[in-house]
Order: sequence, then C-alpha cells, then structure tokens
Amino acid sequence: MAFALFGLAVSPGIAIGYARLVSHALFEVAHYQIREQDVPREIERFESALAAVREELVHLAQESAAPGAPSELSALVHVHLMFLDDPLLVEQTKVLIKERRCNAEWALVQQMEVLVAQFEDIDDAYLRERKQDIVQVVERILRVLLGKPRRIARKGGEEGELIIVAHDLSPADTIQFKNLKIGGFVTDLGGATSHTAIVARSLAIPAIVGLHNARQLIREDDLLIVDGVRGVLIVDPDARVLEEYRLRRRELELERSRLMRLVSARSVTLDDVEIELMANIELPQDIEQVKKVGAAGIGLFRTEYLFMNRDTLPDEEEQFEAYRQVAKAMGGRPVTIRTLDIGADKEAQALIRHAERQAPNPALGLRAIRYCLAEPQLFLTQLRAILRAAHYGEVRILVPMLAHAAEIEQTLALIEEAKAQLKRRRCRFNPHIAIGGMIEIPAAALALGPFLKRLQFLSLGTNDLIQYLLAIDRTDESVAHLYDPLHPAVLRVIAQVIQTAQKAEMPVAVCGEMAGEPKFTRLLLGMGLTEFSMHPAQLLKVKQQVVMADVGELSAKVSRLLRIDDPDRVRELVERL
Ligand code: PEP
Ligand code: MG
Repeated sequence: MAFALFGLAVSPGIAIGYARLVSHALFEVAHYQIREQDVPREIERFESALAAVREELVHLAQESAAPGAPSELSALVHVHLMFLDDPLLVEQTKVLIKERRCNAEWALVQQMEVLVAQFEDIDDAYLRERKQDIVQVVERILRVLLGKPRRIARKGGEEGELIIVAHDLSPADTIQFKNLKIGGFVTDLGGATSHTAIVARSLAIPAIVGLHNARQLIREDDLLIVDGVRGVLIVDPDARVLEEYRLRRRELELERSRLMRLVSARSVTLDDVEIELMANIELPQDIEQVKKVGAAGIGLFRTEYLFMNRDTLPDEEEQFEAYRQVAKAMGGRPVTIRTLDIGADKEAQALIRHAERQAPNPALGLRAIRYCLAEPQLFLTQLRAILRAAHYGEVRILVPMLAHAAEIEQTLALIEEAKAQLKRRRCRFNPHIAIGGMIEIPAAALALGPFLKRLQFLSLGTNDLIQYLLAIDRTDESVAHLYDPLHPAVLRVIAQVIQTAQKAEMPVAVCGEMAGEPKFTRLLLGMGLTEFSMHPAQLLKVKQQVVMADVGELSAKVSRLLRIDDPDRVRELVERL
C-alpha cells in the first residue's frame, strides 16, 4: 500500500531504491526474518563480507609491514585477522542465521555480544581489553554488509540503490557514507542545516530529515522514492508514480550535465563584477569533486571530520599530511583550513573521552574555539600542522565561533607559540599565513572592531549565525519551521557585516549554507558579496545565477528590501529579485 511522508528537503535530487533500516549506532542493526530458502544466500552474503574484510586487513597488514610503520599497527591487524577465523564468531553466526532464520547483521551482533561478555570475565587486563578488537572487526564486517544488501526478488524496479532509513544519524555516522555506495538517506530527526544535512549535500545524495516516524513505518527492503527537492518520501509507490519519478530523475541528470558546460565559464556578473566561487570540504578526498566543478579555492575545510570515527586523535604528522594533500592538490588556489569546530552536534569519540563530560546545552557550550582554547596542546598540534602545510600552498587559517576580543588575542598568541615551536624544531612553515575569523555569533557580527583590527579576512557562517540570532537549534526538527534565513533581522545583520567589512577593505565571504542556495545568490550579490563558499555540488547552480545577474541593479533592490519588516513581503521580493 503506497503512502507518502513529508519532511525537510536537505539535499536535492531523486533517489529510487530499497530501504535499509539502520540505527544511530552501527550495532543497533535491523532484525528481520528471512525465508527458509533464502538461508543459504544469507550465509553466502555473510561469507562474502568476511572475505572482503579479510582482503582489507591483508592489505593493511602489508602496509603496516612497510619500513617506518608503527609495529603496534601490524600486531593489531594480525589480531583482527585472527578473529576473522574464530569459529565462535564466524561459525556460530552462521548457526544463528540458520536456526533463527534471521539476517546476517543481527546474528553477527548477537554473537559479538556473547564474545564480548566472555572477554569481560577475564582477569587479565590486557586480554580483557581485546574485546575492543572484536568490536572493531565486527564493525568492519557490518560496514561491508551495509554496503551489500541482500539480493532479493525486487518488485519491478531496475534500481539497485540503497536508501538508508534511520531515526537519527550523527554527522560522524553520515560522513562514513562517503565510502559506501548509497543512493540517499532519510531520518526522523534533524534540521535543515544540521551537520548531518550538510554532509548529505556534500555527498551530493538526495536526503530528507525531520520525517518524525519514518523509521517505524518503513520496513526493510520497502521500495522508496526520496524526493530531495520537495522533501517527500514515497513508500511502495505504484507503477505510474514510479515512472513519473524516473522521468524527473532523468531530467535532473540532464540538467546536471548541461550545467557542466559552465565549468570553464568566467565567474563574472553581467556588469563585470568578479565573483569568487569556492568550495566547502570535509575530507581531503572531496578535492576530486572540487576540481571537477572548477572551484576558485577552498573556502572552508571542516577539519573536525578528521577527528571522527576513531579512538585516537590524529597527531601532527597525520594532520599535516591531510592539509598538505589539499594544499598541493589546489595548486596556488586558496585553501582555508578551519580549526577544529568540535562540539554541539559534531562529536568525536576520542575527544569526548578527552573532555570526559557532556555539556548540558552543547550548542552554547565548550564548542569550537572555546574548546581549543581550553585544550591548548590539542590546538597547538593542529596549528603546527596547518602552519607546516602552508609551506606547500596558499593555506589560510580560519577560526570558528569567535565572539570576544580576548579570544582573538589568545588565538593569535597560540599561533605565535606554534610558530616558535616549529622554529625551534627547524621545521619549514609559512610565518606569514593569513588568519581569518568566522562571523557566526551575533555579538561578533554586531561588534566587528576587534576582528577588523586583528585579522586578515572574515567568513560569515550563516548556519550558526541564524541559529543564535533566532534562538533556534539548527538540529531540532520541531523548531525547523522557525529557522528562517530570510528573517528581516538575519538579512540586516548579514548585509551589515558585508558592508562594514568592505568599508574597512577587509575580504569577507559567506561559507554557510546560504552561499550554496541558488535562490539566495541574487540576494547576496545585491548585498555586495563577492566571495561565496559552498558544497561543490551546488557550485555550478550558483554560477548559473551569477552570470545572469547585474549587481548594480540588484543592490538598489536589495537595499530597499532590507528596510522592510513584513516577512511575507521580504520573501516575495527575494523571489522576484
Ligand atoms: C556555519 O555555521 O555557517 C558554518 C559554515 O559552520 P558549520 O556549519 O560547520 O557550523
Ligand atoms: Mg558554524
């Protein structure tokens, strides 16, 4: 029986595929019954996942045997390989699949729990800790299983895409999709500018959040249509609807390929104003996409993603390699590396342990620069890595969540300290690196003085700026309807920051989601903005708006619009710009 659910469209496009129910934690896997005759196939699926993980580990073992690789890594990989042969993990899981006629993921997790319990009973502390290794091996197997759904008889669909259905996904969960082939995802919770949504846009896969009870209503392997343009999820569609959406999907693909013609076009308006279109990235691997669309540089590298889904923190060398890779890949084009913006919805396991506390109101808590200033060693490590990478390209430092002049001073002092440490070590680095601040706290936007005096560039983080200006948690779907980028107060603050910065000849960009929304491009151009940073997938759509715009004409209209208080009228005028 077909039905539709409505949520927040957070990443455009249309995906047609089959539901895979997952939970926030990888281990809360779906449990479903399989038919007697499907048991051998389920076991085969489990075995092929084991084989894939074995291959991964053998490859890792070879890498870790290379000269200079840490010997602990090699030992660890061998322990993991051993567990892959452990009959208690492997054979017993197959027995469970057979006896209970259940899916492989669920059987595996049951068996993992039995083994972990056995290890917990061991007196020897070293051996007891080996339970972590079982967990990690199981995690690897689950990831492969997740990427390789059951081959079951499909209901008339040629699509093999996988649609992830979850109650909630953290940004750390979502970033892992970068290595899986996923058609789209939908969640019950989440706001349109939550970091989970932002990662979806970065993956360029259709996504809907805030569906309330999709996880409850959808069954494993239900056929789904994710309409990421309108925020509609259609469950078990009939043939006619399916055909209509296939048509729409083809149209969108055609449009995308037409947009590719703009890659080499100059990014200038009709009245010859040069507009810089830069890219936001989460991981060095995103560079491929950035180059494909011809971005002018990286306007925001959200480095916190390097810290997620791992038990230990990346050290200076690892960070340096990641930053250098990006700097080199971008040639002489600017690479804006934002210092760690951890906290609020972006959690890193290794850092939670570090901090050993959960803030009562994390969006207002020890987040971003506040956290870094409270953990100077962690911050200095990152600063040294960035300073060193700056030797290999046009790297700049961007500091998130600054509000107080004292925070700017402390940050600058720590950057100087990092330079001094590198000098003592005789390391190569760029001592003249440009330092910029994110304007994303209303207090910063309203009192720009210290920023203009002490920094070299600004970047408006509209996602947080709107969250704090309107007091709307950007991750909470129950107030998502109040999260309004076109609120007159929001528009005035953004326009004022752009104007004040430009008067002081201070470069200013927007790197929040507003910059990647083609429907806001003309508005921002009319405010005088010349630097935009966004997900690579949005860049050509924004460029299309830029090349058709006339800034002179827009700025007159926008200054009139900024004086209006009636939100409906503002909306109407923005649409007509
Ligand atoms: C912002 O707040 O607008 C921003 C770009 O940073 P993030 O989305 O990572 O908080
Ligand atoms: Mg922010």
